[in-house]
Amino acid sequence: MTNSLLPTSIVGSLPKPSWLSETETLWSPWKLEGAPLAEGKQDAMRAAVLEQTRRGIDIISDGEQTRQHFVTTFIEHLSGVDFENKQTVLIRDRYEASVPSVVGAVERKAPVFVEDAKFLRTLTDRQIKWTLPGPMTMVDTLHDGYYGSREKLAWEFAAILNQEAKELEAAGVDVIQFDEPAFNVFFDEVADWGVAALERACEGLKAETVAHICFGYGIKANNDWKATLGTQWRHYEKSFPLLQRSSIDTISLESHHSNVPLEVVELVRGKRVMLGAIDVANQQIETSEEVAETLRKALEYVDADKLIPSTNCGMAPFPRDVALAKLSALSAGAAVLREELVCASV
Ligand SMILES: [Zn+2]
Repeated sequence: MTNSLLPTSIVGSLPKPSWLSETETLWSPWKLEGAPLAEGKQDAMRAAVLEQTRRGIDIISDGEQTRQHFVTTFIEHLSGVDFENKQTVLIRDRYEASVPSVVGAVERKAPVFVEDAKFLRTLTDRQIKWTLPGPMTMVDTLHDGYYGSREKLAWEFAAILNQEAKELEAAGVDVIQFDEPAFNVFFDEVADWGVAALERACEGLKAETVAHICFGYGIKANNDWKATLGTQWRHYEKSFPLLQRSSIDTISLESHHSNVPLEVVELVRGKRVMLGAIDVANQQIETSEEVAETLRKALEYVDADKLIPSTNCGMAPFPRDVALAKLSALSAGAAVLREELVCASV
């Protein structure tokens, strides 16, 4: 049985098992190869689905068990990209990273995640969600030596993402989420072409679409950046009015333990809201009351039937037991508030 009121979901990643890759390491290389790697990824997805299910998560994701990186694994499957000669660029205006380089016209020669999504579909009867990188975040996670224009490259990626998303939908994916952390950094581009490119990626989809924007994983570069942002993180005020007028169905943002003023949620009134009630930068497990309180406060700005309790971002860098305990905390907190809402309505 899943919950139709306050259905819970995680933003994306879960830690991978130690037999598949290095633990507590973002973007860790695989420990297996060939057929054992393919089998290992499927077993990791089985474990991710089982744990989400038994811990009360309603909309199931693959925990990104088949991906090393939420952006570059997708880019790796495109032609026109050189992975051998990586270039160092500044990502999100914040930290340097060695990234692939665009050296020719980008093209999707074959589906990227569709077989994985079909496998996920066989593992559960619950709604399933698949995450893809957003066009702007893709552009900001590589070196462009061919197009010479971030906007032009973003439109190319948007068309490619749309092809992939349509095939994911056909594979039985109910919710397709695009990760756009770059929306909290490049405000002019968000207004000029970022939201429009994201809408292009979602064009013609019947599946629920989500835009996930956040302040990043709980890694040092992001935590250091957050420490400079002051007591009021109002970044969402730039993108939310644009997203409110867009075709995107659901907006995902971080909240718990962040300095995001909750009234920004009002700016997307009418949309469904995936609200982060679980901190992904702190290993302490939230109590059910802490989770419920974060969600309760949000109800001033979002209707209860449009609220989806969630995590702030992915949990890949956590020890596995911490991430799993946080799944339980999320559903326990949502259950507290659900009960209050049901009692109040009778
Ligand atoms: Zn995130």
